[in-house]
Amino acid sequence: MDRTAVDGLVVLGVTGSIGRQALEVADRLGITVSAIAARRGSDELLQIAKRYGTARVVAAAPTPAEQAALSERLGDRVGFGPEALVELAVAAGSTVVNGIVGAAGLEASVAALEAGNRLALANKESLVAGGPVIDRALRAGGGELLPVDSEHSALLQCLTGEDVDAVRRLILTASGGPFRGRDAESLATVTVAEALDHPTWSMGPRITIDSATLMNKAFEVIEAHYLFGLPYDRIDVVVHPQSIVHSVVEFFDGSLKAHLGEPDMRVPIQYAITHPHRRPGPLAPFPLAGQTLTFEEPDRAAFPLLDLGYEAGRQGESAPAVLNAADEIAVQAFLDGRIGFSAIPRVVESTLERVALRKLAGVADVVAVDAEARAVATELAGTC
Ligand code: MG
Repeated sequence: MDRTAVDGLVVLGVTGSIGRQALEVADRLGITVSAIAARRGSDELLQIAKRYGTARVVAAAPTPAEQAALSERLGDRVGFGPEALVELAVAAGSTVVNGIVGAAGLEASVAALEAGNRLALANKESLVAGGPVIDRALRAGGGELLPVDSEHSALLQCLTGEDVDAVRRLILTASGGPFRGRDAESLATVTVAEALDHPTWSMGPRITIDSATLMNKAFEVIEAHYLFGLPYDRIDVVVHPQSIVHSVVEFFDGSLKAHLGEPDMRVPIQYAITHPHRRPGPLAPFPLAGQTLTFEEPDRAAFPLLDLGYEAGRQGESAPAVLNAADEIAVQAFLDGRIGFSAIPRVVESTLERVALRKLAGVADVVAVDAEARAVATELAGTC
Protein backbone atom coordinates (compact mmCIF):
# COMPACT_ATOMS: atom_id res chain seq x y z
CA MET A 1 0.00 0.00 0.00
CA ASP A 2 1.09 3.51 -0.78
CA ARG A 3 1.85 5.24 2.53
CA THR A 4 1.92 9.02 2.62
CA ALA A 5 4.47 10.80 4.75
CA VAL A 6 2.29 12.26 7.47
CA ASP A 7 4.03 12.31 10.85
CA GLY A 8 1.07 13.88 12.49
CA LEU A 9 -2.05 15.63 11.42
CA VAL A 10 -2.81 18.98 13.07
CA VAL A 11 -6.48 19.90 12.67
CA LEU A 12 -7.25 23.57 13.29
CA GLY A 13 -10.96 24.39 13.45
CA VAL A 14 -11.66 20.82 14.50
CA THR A 15 -15.29 21.41 15.54
CA GLY A 16 -16.21 22.91 12.16
CA SER A 17 -17.34 21.08 9.05
CA ILE A 18 -13.87 20.85 7.45
CA GLY A 19 -12.26 19.83 10.74
CA ARG A 20 -14.74 17.04 11.45
CA GLN A 21 -14.34 15.66 7.94
CA ALA A 22 -10.53 15.85 8.24
CA LEU A 23 -10.77 13.64 11.35
CA GLU A 24 -12.91 11.19 9.40
CA VAL A 25 -10.23 11.06 6.65
CA ALA A 26 -7.48 10.55 9.25
CA ASP A 27 -9.42 7.73 10.94
CA ARG A 28 -10.08 5.96 7.66
CA LEU A 29 -6.45 6.24 6.46
CA GLY A 30 -4.93 5.42 9.84
CA ILE A 31 -3.15 8.78 10.14
CA THR A 32 -2.19 9.94 13.65
CA VAL A 33 -3.96 13.10 14.79
CA SER A 34 -1.22 14.89 16.75
CA ALA A 35 -3.04 18.11 17.64
CA ILE A 36 -6.49 19.68 17.49
CA ALA A 37 -7.70 23.23 17.98
CA ALA A 38 -10.95 25.15 18.05
CA ARG A 39 -11.89 28.71 18.83
CA ARG A 40 -14.09 27.91 21.80
CA GLY A 41 -13.52 25.35 24.54
CA SER A 42 -16.84 23.59 23.93
CA ASP A 43 -17.98 20.16 25.11
CA GLU A 44 -17.47 19.01 21.55
CA LEU A 45 -13.77 19.94 21.71
CA LEU A 46 -13.48 17.97 24.97
CA GLN A 47 -15.18 14.95 23.42
CA ILE A 48 -12.81 15.02 20.44
CA ALA A 49 -9.83 15.47 22.80
CA LYS A 50 -10.90 12.31 24.65
CA ARG A 51 -11.18 10.38 21.40
CA TYR A 52 -7.63 11.37 20.34
CA GLY A 53 -6.09 10.74 23.73
CA THR A 54 -2.51 11.75 22.89
CA ALA A 55 -3.24 14.84 20.81
CA ARG A 56 -2.30 18.33 21.95
CA VAL A 57 -5.42 20.48 22.38
CA VAL A 58 -5.83 24.23 21.99
CA ALA A 59 -8.81 26.49 22.58
CA ALA A 60 -7.92 29.80 20.94
CA ALA A 61 -10.59 31.98 22.56
CA PRO A 62 -12.32 30.09 25.40
CA THR A 63 -14.51 31.63 28.10
CA PRO A 64 -12.95 31.57 31.61
CA ALA A 65 -15.32 28.72 32.57
CA GLU A 66 -14.38 26.69 29.48
CA GLN A 67 -10.69 27.25 30.16
CA ALA A 68 -11.05 26.03 33.76
CA ALA A 69 -13.03 22.95 32.70
CA LEU A 70 -10.57 21.99 29.96
CA SER A 71 -7.55 22.47 32.24
CA GLU A 72 -9.13 20.25 34.87
CA ARG A 73 -9.96 17.48 32.40
CA LEU A 74 -6.91 17.61 30.12
CA GLY A 75 -4.09 18.91 32.34
CA ASP A 76 -0.98 19.96 30.44
CA ARG A 77 -2.26 18.54 27.15
CA VAL A 78 -4.25 21.73 26.63
CA GLY A 79 -3.12 25.26 25.76
CA PHE A 80 -5.01 28.51 25.30
CA GLY A 81 -4.88 31.62 23.15
CA PRO A 82 -3.59 32.53 19.69
CA GLU A 83 0.06 31.83 20.62
CA ALA A 84 -0.80 28.25 21.55
CA LEU A 85 -2.55 27.89 18.20
CA VAL A 86 0.57 29.04 16.33
CA GLU A 87 2.66 26.55 18.33
CA LEU A 88 0.56 23.71 16.91
CA ALA A 89 1.02 24.98 13.36
CA VAL A 90 4.83 25.01 13.60
CA ALA A 91 5.32 21.50 15.07
CA ALA A 92 8.01 19.89 12.89
CA GLY A 93 6.92 17.43 10.20
CA SER A 94 3.23 18.20 10.56
CA THR A 95 0.50 18.39 7.99
CA VAL A 96 -1.69 21.24 9.13
CA VAL A 97 -5.34 21.28 8.09
CA ASN A 98 -6.48 24.85 8.52
CA GLY A 99 -10.26 24.87 8.75
CA ILE A 100 -10.46 27.95 10.95
CA VAL A 101 -13.18 30.35 9.85
CA GLY A 102 -12.20 34.00 9.62
CA ALA A 103 -9.14 36.20 9.90
CA ALA A 104 -7.74 34.22 12.88
CA GLY A 105 -6.71 31.53 10.40
CA LEU A 106 -4.16 33.69 8.59
CA GLU A 107 -1.55 33.74 11.35
CA ALA A 108 -1.65 29.95 11.67
CA SER A 109 -1.26 29.57 7.90
CA VAL A 110 1.78 31.85 7.82
CA ALA A 111 3.33 30.04 10.79
CA ALA A 112 2.83 26.59 9.24
CA LEU A 113 4.41 27.63 5.94
CA GLU A 114 7.31 29.48 7.56
CA ALA A 115 8.03 26.32 9.56
CA GLY A 116 8.23 24.32 6.32
CA ASN A 117 5.09 22.29 7.03
CA ARG A 118 2.43 21.11 4.61
CA LEU A 119 -0.61 23.35 4.87
CA ALA A 120 -3.94 21.91 3.72
CA LEU A 121 -5.77 25.18 3.43
CA ALA A 122 -9.50 25.66 3.83
CA ASN A 123 -9.31 29.07 5.54
CA LYS A 124 -10.50 31.50 2.87
CA GLU A 125 -9.05 34.59 4.52
CA SER A 126 -5.47 33.31 4.24
CA LEU A 127 -5.26 33.69 0.46
CA VAL A 128 -8.06 36.16 -0.19
CA ALA A 129 -7.01 38.72 2.43
CA GLY A 130 -3.38 37.75 2.93
CA GLY A 131 -2.24 36.47 -0.48
CA PRO A 132 1.00 38.48 -0.65
CA VAL A 133 1.85 37.54 2.95
CA ILE A 134 1.22 33.83 2.34
CA ASP A 135 3.32 34.03 -0.82
CA ARG A 136 6.29 35.33 1.15
CA ALA A 137 5.85 32.79 3.96
CA LEU A 138 5.84 30.01 1.38
CA ARG A 139 9.08 31.22 -0.20
CA ALA A 140 10.76 31.86 3.16
CA GLY A 141 9.90 28.55 4.84
CA GLY A 142 9.79 26.09 1.98
CA GLY A 143 6.47 24.68 3.17
CA GLU A 144 3.82 23.25 0.88
CA LEU A 145 0.47 24.87 0.19
CA LEU A 146 -2.31 22.46 -0.75
CA PRO A 147 -5.86 23.68 -1.38
CA VAL A 148 -8.84 22.01 0.28
CA ASP A 149 -11.51 23.93 -1.66
CA SER A 150 -13.08 21.61 -4.24
CA GLU A 151 -12.37 23.88 -7.23
CA HIS A 152 -8.72 24.46 -6.37
CA SER A 153 -8.18 20.82 -5.53
CA ALA A 154 -9.63 20.02 -8.98
CA LEU A 155 -7.21 22.48 -10.62
CA LEU A 156 -4.27 21.03 -8.68
CA GLN A 157 -5.24 17.51 -9.72
CA CYS A 158 -5.47 18.60 -13.39
CA LEU A 159 -2.13 20.43 -13.15
CA THR A 160 -0.18 17.70 -11.34
CA GLY A 161 2.39 16.32 -13.79
CA GLU A 162 1.88 19.28 -16.14
CA ASP A 163 4.03 22.30 -16.93
CA VAL A 164 2.26 25.45 -15.69
CA ASP A 165 3.72 27.33 -18.70
CA ALA A 166 1.58 25.12 -20.96
CA VAL A 167 -1.66 26.37 -19.37
CA ARG A 168 -3.87 28.65 -21.44
CA ARG A 169 -6.48 29.21 -18.74
CA LEU A 170 -7.85 27.92 -15.50
CA ILE A 171 -11.63 27.59 -15.61
CA LEU A 172 -13.38 27.57 -12.24
CA THR A 173 -16.87 26.12 -12.23
CA ALA A 174 -19.67 27.79 -10.26
CA SER A 175 -23.01 26.19 -9.40
CA GLY A 176 -24.63 29.59 -9.96
CA GLY A 177 -26.32 29.40 -6.57
CA PRO A 178 -30.07 29.57 -5.89
CA PHE A 179 -30.58 32.69 -8.06
CA ARG A 180 -29.11 31.45 -11.31
CA GLY A 181 -31.20 32.83 -14.19
CA ARG A 182 -32.69 35.68 -12.12
CA ASP A 183 -32.18 39.26 -13.32
CA ALA A 184 -30.90 42.16 -11.23
CA GLU A 185 -34.37 43.62 -10.71
CA SER A 186 -35.93 40.44 -9.31
CA LEU A 187 -32.97 39.95 -6.96
CA ALA A 188 -33.82 43.12 -5.04
CA THR A 189 -36.65 41.39 -3.16
CA VAL A 190 -35.16 37.98 -2.33
CA THR A 191 -35.42 36.80 1.27
CA VAL A 192 -32.75 35.43 3.61
CA ALA A 193 -34.39 31.99 3.49
CA GLU A 194 -34.29 31.92 -0.32
CA ALA A 195 -30.63 32.95 -0.33
CA LEU A 196 -29.70 30.26 2.21
CA ASP A 197 -31.21 27.50 0.06
CA HIS A 198 -28.14 26.36 -1.93
CA PRO A 199 -28.94 23.78 -4.64
CA THR A 200 -25.92 21.43 -4.38
CA TRP A 201 -23.56 22.17 -1.46
CA SER A 202 -24.53 22.32 2.20
CA MET A 203 -22.42 25.00 3.94
CA GLY A 204 -22.43 27.71 6.62
CA PRO A 205 -24.59 30.86 6.21
CA ARG A 206 -21.90 33.29 5.02
CA ILE A 207 -20.45 31.05 2.31
CA THR A 208 -23.97 30.15 1.19
CA ILE A 209 -24.81 33.85 0.70
CA ASP A 210 -21.42 34.35 -0.96
CA SER A 211 -22.36 31.56 -3.38
CA ALA A 212 -25.69 33.23 -4.12
CA THR A 213 -23.96 36.55 -4.97
CA LEU A 214 -21.01 34.87 -6.81
CA MET A 215 -18.71 36.62 -4.31
CA ASN A 216 -17.45 33.21 -3.32
CA LYS A 217 -16.43 32.52 -6.91
CA ALA A 218 -14.57 35.84 -7.07
CA PHE A 219 -12.72 34.86 -3.88
CA GLU A 220 -11.82 31.56 -5.54
CA VAL A 221 -10.46 33.41 -8.59
CA ILE A 222 -8.18 35.40 -6.26
CA GLU A 223 -7.13 32.22 -4.45
CA ALA A 224 -6.37 30.52 -7.78
CA HIS A 225 -4.19 33.47 -8.75
CA TYR A 226 -2.07 33.07 -5.63
CA LEU A 227 -2.06 29.26 -5.65
CA PHE A 228 -1.05 28.75 -9.26
CA GLY A 229 0.62 32.07 -10.16
CA LEU A 230 -1.46 32.83 -13.25
CA PRO A 231 -2.60 36.36 -14.17
CA TYR A 232 -6.29 37.22 -13.82
CA ASP A 233 -6.94 37.31 -17.57
CA ARG A 234 -6.08 33.60 -17.66
CA ILE A 235 -8.53 32.63 -14.92
CA ASP A 236 -12.15 32.22 -16.05
CA VAL A 237 -15.45 31.26 -14.46
CA VAL A 238 -18.17 29.16 -16.03
CA VAL A 239 -21.52 28.31 -14.47
CA HIS A 240 -22.13 24.57 -14.18
CA PRO A 241 -25.31 23.94 -12.17
CA GLN A 242 -24.75 20.21 -11.59
CA SER A 243 -21.49 20.72 -9.59
CA ILE A 244 -20.07 17.49 -11.03
CA VAL A 245 -17.16 19.12 -12.90
CA HIS A 246 -15.21 20.82 -10.10
CA SER A 247 -12.93 22.82 -12.41
CA VAL A 248 -11.11 22.66 -15.74
CA VAL A 249 -7.62 23.44 -17.04
CA GLU A 250 -7.19 24.38 -20.69
CA PHE A 251 -3.72 23.92 -22.18
CA PHE A 252 -2.04 25.69 -25.09
CA ASP A 253 -2.34 22.61 -27.31
CA GLY A 254 -6.14 22.82 -27.13
CA SER A 255 -6.60 20.04 -24.58
CA LEU A 256 -8.92 20.50 -21.63
CA LYS A 257 -8.60 18.46 -18.45
CA ALA A 258 -11.49 18.46 -16.03
CA HIS A 259 -11.93 16.98 -12.57
CA LEU A 260 -15.29 15.29 -12.01
CA GLY A 261 -16.89 13.66 -9.03
CA GLU A 262 -19.57 13.66 -6.36
CA PRO A 263 -19.67 17.03 -4.54
CA ASP A 264 -18.20 15.71 -1.26
CA MET A 265 -15.58 17.67 0.68
CA ARG A 266 -13.93 14.53 2.05
CA VAL A 267 -12.37 13.96 -1.38
CA PRO A 268 -10.45 17.27 -1.64
CA ILE A 269 -9.57 17.16 2.08
CA GLN A 270 -8.04 13.72 1.62
CA TYR A 271 -6.18 14.74 -1.54
CA ALA A 272 -4.62 17.75 0.22
CA ILE A 273 -3.24 15.31 2.80
CA THR A 274 -2.09 12.57 0.40
CA HIS A 275 -0.98 14.59 -2.70
CA PRO A 276 0.63 13.56 -5.03
CA HIS A 277 -0.54 10.08 -4.01
CA ARG A 278 -4.06 8.71 -3.88
CA ARG A 279 -5.61 6.52 -1.24
CA PRO A 280 -8.97 4.74 -1.25
CA GLY A 281 -11.87 7.10 -0.60
CA PRO A 282 -15.35 6.83 0.92
CA LEU A 283 -17.44 7.15 -2.24
CA ALA A 284 -19.19 4.50 -4.31
CA PRO A 285 -18.37 4.29 -8.06
CA PHE A 286 -19.75 7.40 -9.75
CA PRO A 287 -22.82 6.84 -11.97
CA LEU A 288 -21.58 8.70 -15.07
CA ALA A 289 -24.21 7.26 -17.41
CA GLY A 290 -27.35 9.34 -17.31
CA GLN A 291 -25.63 12.54 -16.14
CA THR A 292 -26.28 15.72 -18.09
CA LEU A 293 -23.58 18.35 -17.69
CA THR A 294 -24.32 21.91 -18.80
CA PHE A 295 -22.18 25.06 -18.87
CA GLU A 296 -23.15 28.70 -19.28
CA GLU A 297 -21.65 32.17 -18.94
CA PRO A 298 -22.13 33.84 -15.55
CA ASP A 299 -24.55 36.80 -15.56
CA ARG A 300 -22.13 39.58 -14.68
CA ALA A 301 -24.84 42.27 -14.61
CA ALA A 302 -27.06 40.44 -12.12
CA PHE A 303 -24.06 39.38 -9.99
CA PRO A 304 -21.68 42.40 -10.01
CA LEU A 305 -19.53 41.02 -7.17
CA LEU A 306 -17.84 38.66 -9.63
CA ASP A 307 -16.30 41.50 -11.65
CA LEU A 308 -15.69 43.54 -8.51
CA GLY A 309 -13.65 40.61 -7.23
CA TYR A 310 -11.57 40.52 -10.42
CA GLU A 311 -11.02 44.26 -10.09
CA ALA A 312 -9.85 43.96 -6.47
CA GLY A 313 -7.65 41.02 -7.45
CA ARG A 314 -5.96 43.02 -10.20
CA GLN A 315 -5.35 45.91 -7.81
CA GLY A 316 -3.73 43.35 -5.52
CA GLU A 317 -2.07 44.00 -2.13
CA SER A 318 -4.76 45.22 0.31
CA ALA A 319 -7.72 45.41 -2.11
CA PRO A 320 -8.84 41.75 -1.76
CA ALA A 321 -8.62 42.09 2.06
CA VAL A 322 -10.98 45.07 1.84
CA LEU A 323 -13.27 43.09 -0.46
CA ASN A 324 -13.42 40.21 2.03
CA ALA A 325 -14.03 42.38 5.12
CA ALA A 326 -16.66 44.53 3.40
CA ASP A 327 -18.46 41.45 2.13
CA GLU A 328 -18.54 39.84 5.56
CA ILE A 329 -20.12 42.96 7.07
CA ALA A 330 -22.60 43.32 4.20
CA VAL A 331 -23.61 39.64 4.35
CA GLN A 332 -24.17 39.87 8.11
CA ALA A 333 -26.31 42.99 7.60
CA PHE A 334 -28.36 41.07 5.02
CA LEU A 335 -28.74 38.03 7.31
CA ASP A 336 -29.86 40.35 10.14
CA GLY A 337 -32.48 41.89 7.85
CA ARG A 338 -30.82 45.31 7.92
CA ILE A 339 -30.10 45.56 4.17
CA GLY A 340 -31.54 43.97 1.04
CA PHE A 341 -29.76 41.41 -1.14
CA SER A 342 -28.96 43.97 -3.85
CA ALA A 343 -27.33 46.27 -1.30
CA ILE A 344 -24.56 43.72 -0.61
CA PRO A 345 -22.55 44.64 -3.77
CA ARG A 346 -23.20 48.34 -3.20
CA VAL A 347 -21.69 48.21 0.30
CA VAL A 348 -18.69 46.24 -0.99
CA GLU A 349 -18.05 48.53 -3.96
CA SER A 350 -18.30 51.72 -1.89
CA THR A 351 -15.98 50.29 0.77
CA LEU A 352 -13.40 49.42 -1.90
CA GLU A 353 -13.58 53.02 -3.15
CA ARG A 354 -13.16 54.51 0.31
CA VAL A 355 -10.32 52.42 1.79
CA ALA A 356 -6.93 53.39 0.34
CA LEU A 357 -4.77 50.71 -1.30
CA ARG A 358 -1.65 49.83 0.66
CA LYS A 359 1.15 47.25 0.68
CA LEU A 360 0.82 44.22 2.94
CA ALA A 361 4.15 43.55 4.66
CA GLY A 362 2.83 41.09 7.25
CA VAL A 363 -0.13 39.75 9.20
CA ALA A 364 -0.39 43.02 11.20
CA ASP A 365 -1.05 44.97 7.98
CA VAL A 366 -3.79 42.55 6.98
CA VAL A 367 -5.40 42.89 10.43
CA ALA A 368 -5.25 46.71 10.18
CA VAL A 369 -6.78 46.81 6.68
CA ASP A 370 -9.44 44.35 7.77
CA ALA A 371 -10.43 46.53 10.75
CA GLU A 372 -10.52 49.71 8.66
CA ALA A 373 -12.65 48.08 5.95
CA ARG A 374 -15.05 46.65 8.55
CA ALA A 375 -15.55 50.09 10.11
CA VAL A 376 -16.22 51.70 6.72
CA ALA A 377 -18.54 48.90 5.58
CA THR A 378 -20.47 48.98 8.88
CA GLU A 379 -21.08 52.69 8.42
CA LEU A 380 -22.12 52.18 4.80
CA ALA A 381 -24.45 49.28 5.66
CA GLY A 382 -26.20 51.58 8.13
CA THR A 383 -27.01 54.12 5.42
CA CYS A 384 -28.24 51.69 2.74
MG1 MG B 1 -15.47 26.18 -3.60
